[in-house]
Amino acid sequence: MAVTIKSAREIELMRESGRLLSIVHDELGKAIRPGISTKEIDTLGEKLIRSFGCTPNFLHYNGFPASICVSVNEEVVHGIPHADRILKEGDIVSLDAGLIYKGYHSDAARTHAVGQISPEAEKLIAVTRQSFFEGIKMAKAGYHLYDISNAIAAYVTSYGYGIVRDLVGHGIGTELHEAPQIPNFAQKRRGVRLQPGMTLAIEPMINMGTGDVIWKKDHWTVVTADGKYSAHYENTVLITEGEPELLTLPAQDKQT
Ligand code: MG
Repeated sequence: MAVTIKSAREIELMRESGRLLSIVHDELGKAIRPGISTKEIDTLGEKLIRSFGCTPNFLHYNGFPASICVSVNEEVVHGIPHADRILKEGDIVSLDAGLIYKGYHSDAARTHAVGQISPEAEKLIAVTRQSFFEGIKMAKAGYHLYDISNAIAAYVTSYGYGIVRDLVGHGIGTELHEAPQIPNFAQKRRGVRLQPGMTLAIEPMINMGTGDVIWKKDHWTVVTADGKYSAHYENTVLITEGEPELLTLPAQDKQT
């Protein structure tokens, strides 16, 4: 499947989709505290998304039963919210959320500290976030797709962390998952040439230990094979001739 190039009109819709999702993430981030259940986070997220007249794109996607993926500690992605899963001091929690605005999808993820966390966990979250910013230094016209992958991989590997290989980033637009796939590990090929108007969800998933993962019996939750913590950071990005536009991140948060 070819990578779609969005028109000026489509880019406007993607921008608004991303802007609304950034508000959802900001509000969810403020709600994170010891004692909140993962189900409460999901309920709040769905309510916010619907308050904008938008639809949560993860709900019922391939049968996923919730609007927000809430993944705690060793859970990498696709954690299913539960009323009896209560966050406690020292946990880290990854929130992956997306919405549809007038037919256009946005997708973003953040990992948050729950109360006071260990310095090791703080560092994992910071390096994961920064690896995204290292990657998008290559996310502009003239570079190739895997320049992004290689930049993320080189940065993460320098810290000795494990890169999840079973899950990757993706194109996004009128579908949640469009071509191309965007690995976070080193590639030998160059991949497609980046062009203005491509919209990509770039999302490093980084583990404190091994990059190997296991799918749990619920057929959704992905956990680290060694039980060590995992972090996730994602934005929907517009490729331009110059610097990429981070559709799901307000301007004031863009310092790297
Ligand atoms: Mg994604």
